[in-house]
Amino acid sequence: MTKHIFVTGGVTSSLGKGLTASSLGRLLKCRGLRVTIQKLDPYINVDPGTMNPFEHGEVFVTDDGGETDLDLGHYERFIDENLSRDSNATTGSIYQAVLAAERRGVFLGRTVQVIPHITDEIKRRITRLATDEVDVVITEVGGTVGDIEILPFLEAIRQFRKDVGRENVCYVHVTLVPYLGPSGEQKTKPTQHSVTELRSRGIQPDAIVCRSDGPIPESLKLKISNLCDVPLRGVVNAVDARHLYEIPLVLHDEGLDDEVCRILGLAGEADLSAWEALVARVDTSERPVRIGVIGKYVSLPDAYLSVAEALHHAGYDHGARVRIEWIQAEDVEGLLAEQRLRDLDAIVIPGGFGERGIEGKVTAAGYARDHDLPCLGLCLGMQVMTIEFARNVVGLVGANSSEFDHTSAHKVIDLMDTQRDVVEFGGTMRLGVYPARLTPGSVVARAYGRELVYERHRHRYEFNPRYRSRLEGAGLVCSGVSPDDRLVEFVELAGHPFWVGTQAHPEFKSRPDRPSPLFRELVGAALQRAEGRRPRLLDLDDIAAPPVVPARG
Ligand code: GLN
Repeated sequence: MTKHIFVTGGVTSSLGKGLTASSLGRLLKCRGLRVTIQKLDPYINVDPGTMNPFEHGEVFVTDDGGETDLDLGHYERFIDENLSRDSNATTGSIYQAVLAAERRGVFLGRTVQVIPHITDEIKRRITRLATDEVDVVITEVGGTVGDIEILPFLEAIRQFRKDVGRENVCYVHVTLVPYLGPSGEQKTKPTQHSVTELRSRGIQPDAIVCRSDGPIPESLKLKISNLCDVPLRGVVNAVDARHLYEIPLVLHDEGLDDEVCRILGLAGEADLSAWEALVARVDTSERPVRIGVIGKYVSLPDAYLSVAEALHHAGYDHGARVRIEWIQAEDVEGLLAEQRLRDLDAIVIPGGFGERGIEGKVTAAGYARDHDLPCLGLCLGMQVMTIEFARNVVGLVGANSSEFDHTSAHKVIDLMDTQRDVVEFGGTMRLGVYPARLTPGSVVARAYGRELVYERHRHRYEFNPRYRSRLEGAGLVCSGVSPDDRLVEFVELAGHPFWVGTQAHPEFKSRPDRPSPLFRELVGAALQRAEGRRPRLLDLDDIAAPPVVPARG
């Protein structure tokens, strides 16, 4: 029988429920259990694919082309499993399924209602992940207890325990224990209120994960235990960790996985050695390196969450601490580029949509090409690198993508015929994993150590094959193409330390202990630049010894 853990949140949003679920998933995997995770999101969009990154942060793409919540990225990075679109369900997608069934006559003669039809569909989404290959399904319920939209989800997970048996379900509630400066105290009242709210929906938590910025004393845990009717060992303090990957260790020290396994009747000990080794590597990664991310949504770094994580993973591999400089693309237009980019060790031009900031990204790509600055272009990033090369090396005046300039005489990036007639916005891009054949000996083939690679995609526009031979003739290396040779998936330059663009989003497949090869090579090139250029300030042998002053006698 598959076991189920439901993670809810109270008090405030952005408490790190996703990281708690991910960390718990990792701890269970360390006990040899087979784990999968999903997120139920209470909003009405069918998926986050049509949402503005400012609203929702990054859209995480799964292998099968699901456009999902960014928490799925944390799940994949922590439990090291590739998830699918089934691991993210929204209110919108649930209603869509119920309404489609209603139109097919599935409920003929009956009134379709939130209970039982919507709740049944929610339960079906939970159950479908509980296959024979899975020991534990962790389901994170998005939103905060007390929200209007969350009610059908709480009702569904309440019923679920009755359906599958008490011994197969565990409820974990994540709350905040704030510190109030003026009174110098940590406060449990918000936790009490949010547990009361949860209980009013019929759910008694088995464990409470209390987020706090400083450690919570035993006396406060006891108070929470008494007032919320949770055994003391189920009151777990998730004190702010130094970095994400430390969270599983914090939760383990607090006994969360022991308690959850006790409730679910799961035996075994956690072997944390591999994760501890990762955390030790993170802690000792100290070689400084500065990498600029030239983006459109930089005021909300969550919009580039997987890019940032992939850069950090690459850093750990090199023992380097990557400092990310978030650079607004408009700030590097024209003459401003030199000033903004010259002190960086590398740049990343990430994915994006729409015209704003494009010229700044083109300038940055050109600056990197001219100044041997390592540069990695991701999806839109590769497109602007191609535009830059077409304009400034090949001399195609006004070269552009038809996404930004319909009237351009040289649409070096354009829609493919299959995309031209698409009128819907949701789920209509080239989505999910696609293979690419890499040119033997190229920078990308050496980085991957393979000639056939699979990366995830999310875009409408493509490198225009009509320009391929002209650009190649001028020195652009199309170093990765689709197996049928129709689509250019990777471009690079010979003789540059690292100037590589990919139509894919390799950041989605990066893992803390297995960085994406292109990010690893970018950071390697960045380190060479950083260490070649910087004086060895910290090398004490280089500092002349001070003259010896004879002691006065
Ligand atoms: N806007 C571009 C396209 O649709 C790039 C998309 C992206 O970077 N994900 O092709």
